[in-house]
Amino acid sequence: MASDPAQPAEMTLETALRSERFGQSVFNEDRMRRYLTGLAFNSVKEASYSGTKIDRKIADQVAEGMKAWAMTMGATHYTHWFQPLTGSTAEKHDAFFDLLPDGRAIEKFGGSQLVQQEPDASSFPSGGIRNTFEARGYTAWDPTSPAFIYGKTLCIPTVFVSYTGEALDNKAPLLRALNAVDVAATAVARYFDKNVNKVIATLGWEQEYFLVDKALAQTRPDLILAGRTLLGQAAAKGQQLDDHYFGVIPRRAFQFMKDLEQECMLLGIPVKTRHNEVAPNQFELAPVFEEANLAVDHNQLLMDVMDKVGGRHDLMVLFHEKPFSGINGSGKHNNWSLSTDTGTNLLSPGSTPMKNLQFLTFFITTLMAVNRYEELLRSSIASASNDHRLGANEAPPAIFSIFIGTQLTGVLDELEGVSKGRLSPEEKTELKLNVVGKIPEILMDNTDRNRTSPFAFTGNKFEMRGVGSKTNCAKPMTVLNTIMARQLEEFKTEVDTLIEKKKLRKDEAIFNVLREYIKASKRIRFDGDGYSAAWKKEAAKRKLSNNTNTPQALEILTAPDTLELFSSMGVLTETEIRARQEVELETYSLNVQIEGRVIGELVYSYVIPAVVEYQNQLLQNVSGLKEVFGVAHKKMGAAQLGILQTLSTHLQALQTQTDAMIEARKQANAIAGASQKARAYCETVLPYFEEIRYHSDRLERLVGDTYWPLAKYRELLSLK
Ligand code: ADP
Ligand code: MG
Repeated sequence: MASDPAQPAEMTLETALRSERFGQSVFNEDRMRRYLTGLAFNSVKEASYSGTKIDRKIADQVAEGMKAWAMTMGATHYTHWFQPLTGSTAEKHDAFFDLLPDGRAIEKFGGSQLVQQEPDASSFPSGGIRNTFEARGYTAWDPTSPAFIYGKTLCIPTVFVSYTGEALDNKAPLLRALNAVDVAATAVARYFDKNVNKVIATLGWEQEYFLVDKALAQTRPDLILAGRTLLGQAAAKGQQLDDHYFGVIPRRAFQFMKDLEQECMLLGIPVKTRHNEVAPNQFELAPVFEEANLAVDHNQLLMDVMDKVGGRHDLMVLFHEKPFSGINGSGKHNNWSLSTDTGTNLLSPGSTPMKNLQFLTFFITTLMAVNRYEELLRSSIASASNDHRLGANEAPPAIFSIFIGTQLTGVLDELEGVSKGRLSPEEKTELKLNVVGKIPEILMDNTDRNRTSPFAFTGNKFEMRGVGSKTNCAKPMTVLNTIMARQLEEFKTEVDTLIEKKKLRKDEAIFNVLREYIKASKRIRFDGDGYSAAWKKEAAKRKLSNNTNTPQALEILTAPDTLELFSSMGVLTETEIRARQEVELETYSLNVQIEGRVIGELVYSYVIPAVVEYQNQLLQNVSGLKEVFGVAHKKMGAAQLGILQTLSTHLQALQTQTDAMIEARKQANAIAGASQKARAYCETVLPYFEEIRYHSDRLERLVGDTYWPLAKYRELLSLK
């Protein structure tokens, strides 16, 4: 549960000093020990380890201790902190005490307030769940993620569910998926080590983002309202020179990062690396990996903190996946693995053949799970903003494939040749010595990392690269851990059947199942260039999905296989999935609708007036010239007249396209079904955006700089 402060950043004096303050604002194990009774402490530990319920009387003791600690830290309020389906976080602050009219204070925070709250839930998306069942939803304490203080408020991580128990948030299904993978992976890990009693999923995210000057950003309604520029001519110098990546961090960004890292240290977010990214003004921040639920909470918290710290530095933090056209977008790689309570990373090759067979089991099972559910995994990272990366001409592609490198491919090829049924003693020795035994050695020099792969094995973990920078990691992590749980469960059944029915020995049975998995999952393996047109063709032949837009990608959520998977693994009921799909579709439509409205406003209130003003200036100039030099002077004012003509042409086209887009938007908006509506926005509204942008960007190039009211790319992207 607790993050490990013993894993410091680069050990400079500065970071060493900072790590003393690590987790100062977190109600971590140390503080629990100090502020809780032994009984309460053990209950919380037990609840976070095995999901047991905490007795209400004990909850009172925990609340008491938490409050006492929080007040020594200067906290005055508390809130249940949760992750509704809007994708961000929500909180409602209440004071610890209330003052009665006669001046006496009454306490307002006890066990029942810690355990459960009823926020005014009506304003959060529910996909109709609360309407059909019960109007109320409530938040419930998640003891697996420690409470923390932010500002003057004690924040208690919670799940958000409807009164009838349906998940209304991103955390509840994640916790269920993590439980499912724990159960399934523990059973399989025990083939190799009987001491294993728990398996946790680990997540290390890498957050990319852009920083822009706040004053400049404020001249742009598109950045403010849609989080991305909808118009804007590329700067003369963009990222062509590749001089930003790992270059010197601009001074203002550096100040921001230092401040941000201080905050992260207090909150126990173990940030480790910071550097420039490929694009100008683009940066990345990555922590040491943690247990997946905690890592998700930390990422959600981080985005919030970044926003606030940015404000202090007069910077706007852009989390949008594609804030600037023609410039690299932002993602959030999710590094994922499974780890036992005995300290073994199940995706890390070991020093003995048995350890390596364990590694191969989990490694090959992952290939199998992703192969089978690639389309579902793709759906977990679908959003209007991430569509600009996946499926557009940018990394990574919308097609899921796995890169494993040449050496591991060699190992799998050998394993594929293993005989069916019993193995001869020679074959066993050969496998032990030359196949399974050799893995750590070969992985050492397996440095050929394929950057174009959406799902890559990187030595001791898988890296999922399509996750959007804005996405709540809970979504992909829920799917990945659920499909893994399913596959491991099946693996166990198959191995046990071979042992019982065919009387195979355990390792023979495992080799037999793995051999079949290697064959069955071949189509997902691809080590070539994931961006190439040839791969698209090849992937289509392999029948891999290639859903390039969100409405299309979300369809799989309600396919019979998906419904069966989620309900049988106890992660989401059919009602919950249908609700989620509807919320995602509605969110998509809303996003495109908002962008369409902003474009309308930009065109009519900003671009057209600027063009007209400049045209007037040119016209005045031309008539002045004619007056002075006489109309007979044919060449006089010819350049201006040429510009005027071009301006008029683009202006005309701009207006026509904008009006057509507005009309298409109205029609899309009138459609009733969430799915049909989203499709209409995608297919009939969105395509106008590029057309409109083309004409506006032409105009931007022609109109005098002083007339242009929107901050330009060259200004926005020149943070010093
Ligand atoms: P890079 O990919 O940049 O070369 P690393 O391979 O060290 O760097 O790791 C990248 C990210 O992977 C880091 O954020 C780290 O926290 C995460 N990571 C490392 N090991 C694991 C693991 N076992 N489970 C989950 N994430 C991990
Ligand atoms: Mg990475």
